[in-house]
Amino acid sequence: MKKYCEMSREELLDLKKEFDREFDEIKAEGLALDMSRGKPAPDQLDLSMKMMEVLAGDADLKCETGVDCRNYGVIDGIPEAKRLLGEMSEVEPENIIIYGNSSLNVMFDTIARSYSHGVMGNTPWCKLDKVKFLCPVPGYDRHFRITEFFGIEMINIPMTQEGPDMDMVEKYVNEDPAVKGIWCVPKYSNPQGYTYSEETVKRFAHLKPAAPDFRIYWDNAYSIHHLYDDNQDFLLEILDECAKAGNPDIVYKFTSTSKVSFPGSGIAAVAASKANLDDFRKYMTVQTIGHDKLNQLRHVRFFKDINGLHEHMKKHADILRPKFELVLATLDKELTGLGIGEWTKPHGGYFISFDSMEGCAKAIVAKAKEAGVVMTGAGATYPYGKDPKDSNIRIAPSYPSVEELGKAAEVFVLCVKLVSVEKLLEK
Ligand code: PMP
Repeated sequence: MKKYCEMSREELLDLKKEFDREFDEIKAEGLALDMSRGKPAPDQLDLSMKMMEVLAGDADLKCETGVDCRNYGVIDGIPEAKRLLGEMSEVEPENIIIYGNSSLNVMFDTIARSYSHGVMGNTPWCKLDKVKFLCPVPGYDRHFRITEFFGIEMINIPMTQEGPDMDMVEKYVNEDPAVKGIWCVPKYSNPQGYTYSEETVKRFAHLKPAAPDFRIYWDNAYSIHHLYDDNQDFLLEILDECAKAGNPDIVYKFTSTSKVSFPGSGIAAVAASKANLDDFRKYMTVQTIGHDKLNQLRHVRFFKDINGLHEHMKKHADILRPKFELVLATLDKELTGLGIGEWTKPHGGYFISFDSMEGCAKAIVAKAKEAGVVMTGAGATYPYGKDPKDSNIRIAPSYPSVEELGKAAEVFVLCVKLVSVEKLLEK
């Protein structure tokens, strides 16, 4: 197949005519498909329905220390929930606090607390002239919205297949005391599906921050979300590495069961050093009398332990894998060799990341929308919604049915081709 950029104007005009016709045909179908958010599909949610029954009838609603989970008490999580989420986070139960239904909420609160009260006795960020955060890009739009909300200056750090560009990270963190944090999705990253290499994790652990209150926001949202049994990524456990490097306090590790059980009705947790967790608890005891212990109990009784979680995740993978494979096969078949796009092939997580030719992403997303396919807004994967190259598009294949997804992927590749041809004709 000839690359589009090597084609003559006549060849490109012929292609455009053909694609315009195909586009009009598809548009006339009046599709309404959504590849925008990483939501589990209804059949994935069905996998956890039995959880709704485990506390039914005359079930014993006491946790293992005898506390009645129907009442107030036990502020930082029932012991069995700490054990379960501790296993999922690869830390000891004493290094974990169980929260409510959303890890994003905990991340927001952590920034809010640092802003208003400071980190472990350090100056609250609101009293500083400048606070900066490093943002590996492309990244998760909701992370960026939190730091933007607090007026924190965000600095783009390019992602590689090994994780963020660590030369840049080290330079900023070790030299600039205004740099207070970095957003990381270290496993099956959102949106590229990359997993940080061992060397990257070790370099994180060995940072020498100029700011005493610098923290790594290690959002391990996809820790057990593999697509394949025999082709899984491995991520080095960071708390342990930081402790070994003499940096026990530089990391907060977030997790939740949102895409294990029910998004919005799962359980969230933070793992960190004792000193950090004491800081979290000080705020938490003012904020709430306790989180939803019945939900914690429900999760523990349903999943039991890490093996139960892994078995459950295999069922998710069986539903998700064909969807990823379908989208990837369509991209491979329709776009390989044309020089108009590149995409990732993740082993887990919820997304595929697509990079178009420069200056085309917004137009591709708009064109797809015109044909009835909603994609994540172009630019969303960058701080302030500004992708400097206007090229990254996040593809979320989980929610549509396989049939719908086949159609949506077809529309997407057509839009990529059409917009790329139009771009080349502009020149
Ligand atoms: N972090 C990342 C990287 C995510 O992709 C998501 C969900 N899309 C979340 C956090 C949200 O997690 P929660 O439901 O626990 O707030």
